[in-house]
Amino acid sequence: MRLLHRTSLLLLTAVLGLAGCGTGEPAGRWAGPTASAGTTPSPTGTATGTATPSRAASPFDGRLPKFDPPPVPEKITLAGGPTAPLLNRIPTTQRVAFLTIDDGWVKKPEALALLKAAGIPVTLFLLGPVAAEKPDFFTDLHRNGATIQAHSLNHLSMPSLSYERQKQEICGSADQLGKLFGERPTLFRPPFGEYNQTTLRAARDCGMKAVFHWTQTVDKGKVRYQGEWGKMQPGDIMLMHFRDAYADDFLAALSAMKANNLTPALLESYLP
Ligand SMILES: [Zn+2]
Repeated sequence: MRLLHRTSLLLLTAVLGLAGCGTGEPAGRWAGPTASAGTTPSPTGTATGTATPSRAASPFDGRLPKFDPPPVPEKITLAGGPTAPLLNRIPTTQRVAFLTIDDGWVKKPEALALLKAAGIPVTLFLLGPVAAEKPDFFTDLHRNGATIQAHSLNHLSMPSLSYERQKQEICGSADQLGKLFGERPTLFRPPFGEYNQTTLRAARDCGMKAVFHWTQTVDKGKVRYQGEWGKMQPGDIMLMHFRDAYADDFLAALSAMKANNLTPALLESYLP
């Protein structure tokens, strides 16, 4: 099943030329009890052997950029109506950017150490059944700055599905992730970034505030920019996946933000 799934993913990715949703993205959101808007997430894990109140020492420290805490978020407004709005970035002038991580198939143990060491919020767009395979992995991330949002059940191309099937994929994953992590997702990222008006209607009917694309992707430690190479704008949303090069991708994403004088912020904190 996984082989089939990956094969179809590769085919779709090749056909569509999409960088998103390759072989493993997680979904989620930073709704941890200690993660309040506008503040740096504080690790909730027990400090092992150190009395450091905020960040634990880690082998990544030399490579992790340091950031000032994000500003108090200026919330945007979202369109109402029968369809959920689609956004690829947050319209803001505040010098913030957002790191999102999709799928969840590849669960690298360093993900937790990196998140703790970085002390930043990230949003995970997870597949319900994939998260359910090993929920502890994502619970640990959730407790350390990751919020969890929905990315469907089966990672299918939404436009190929009926309204009822799309609703099943979106509502089903939101329900499952809500049960696993204690908070039902309110954001949806369609697999491969593929959607149609039916997707946006189904997302709305499943209680989604918005559907998200992205502005930059990161893979194998390299950032793929839209527009001028190396340039990011306030409000940009970076997409990486839970893949083998997780650490390289994570570090590359943060380095790109740092180079553009942007601070990682919590995506959800900008939404009404
Ligand atoms: Zn995906």
